[in-house]
Amino acid sequence: MPTDSPTLPLLAAFSRELYHCSDCSYCVDAVWAARGIDRVCPTLAHHDSRPAYSGRGYLAAARAWLEGRALDEDVLAERVFTCTGCGNCETVCPIGLHPHAVNAALRGELLARERAPEPIARLLDSIAAEDNPFGRPRQARPAWSSNLALDLATPGALYYPGCAAAYARPVEARAAVTVMQAAGVRVGGFADEPCCGAPARELGDHVAAAASAAALATMMDLHAGTKIVHSGLECRRQLQGLPAQTFGEWCLQALDTGRLRATPRGTPPLVAIFDGCQARDTPAAAASRAVLAKLGVSIANPDVANHGVCCGAGGGMPAMQPAGALRMARAKLAEHAAAPTIVGADVRCLAHLDAARRPGDPALATLAEFLVAHFDFGART
Ligand code: SF4
Ligand code: SF4
Repeated sequence: MPTDSPTLPLLAAFSRELYHCSDCSYCVDAVWAARGIDRVCPTLAHHDSRPAYSGRGYLAAARAWLEGRALDEDVLAERVFTCTGCGNCETVCPIGLHPHAVNAALRGELLARERAPEPIARLLDSIAAEDNPFGRPRQARPAWSSNLALDLATPGALYYPGCAAAYARPVEARAAVTVMQAAGVRVGGFADEPCCGAPARELGDHVAAAASAAALATMMDLHAGTKIVHSGLECRRQLQGLPAQTFGEWCLQALDTGRLRATPRGTPPLVAIFDGCQARDTPAAAASRAVLAKLGVSIANPDVANHGVCCGAGGGMPAMQPAGALRMARAKLAEHAAAPTIVGADVRCLAHLDAARRPGDPALATLAEFLVAHFDFGART
């Protein structure tokens, strides 16, 4: 068992864990209704069912590489980057192994050898050149805030949309600011708002991700003591150590304290909640559900699905396997077809589902968008 490897340092950190996999295949094809397990991996379900694309497969590949066995690094890269990063393989593993983290280490090792598949290399180039994964010019980022009266001088809270809301779904960013302002918050933002580094991190560029997080932390020095409220759930890890909460968490707190008052305009539609994978097992995951329940909205799926299969938005999947990512989104829309509206906790997932939406599918809204569409607001007097 190699426990140290100067040539594969990221994988060496997992060297003990790699030998504990029992090959139980929970992360591959297990079905156990009582535990909510039904083939948890979206890649296996909607792209390629071979176990080489599973958590178990990534552990096996990492073991082989560390042991010095001959591997075709391009074949390995195609498999390793065909993973949404949903983490389901970790939540289902009965002995607590970390196949998603091993996948991230494999990505880092492959990037260090310049083995990124072409679609991933293009994404990383976009991030390096324009500070976003959408291939959009950096100067376009502030467009989400045009005509919004932000308080840049003395903000009570900084709203941080993240790349998905800033570029792909600005309606979410504008709705979040609208609700916060309705609660009497002086909403500000970052001048020359940067990316937090989450897109680089999930693609395996840990160095760029750390640099972006550090740059954002430095910018926060100008706003010491001010809270950040953000839309992107994938931003959450990058903002650790800063006084940050998701819009859903802020909203729940504002309702609990009476800072925000919301009155429905008529009867809101039945909704299905799509929790997303990025904030699993954190207070942020349950916040959207809790807000809507508190406001009396009928929820078709009141319990969080422990192993709900991912919509395909993350991990570079839409760039790497666009047809597979589309099938994942279509399956998620079909899963919630009985509800007239799907409310998504994660704006990136919502943008991905929207791109796959067809006539007759449920309407889609983020929490902020849903609130603005169906409620009137008032602040505590
Ligand atoms: S992180 Fe998700 S997509 Fe990747 S191997 Fe695990 S279950 Fe499959
Ligand atoms: S990683 Fe965990 S769930 Fe997957 S085969 Fe190994 S022991 Fe089983």
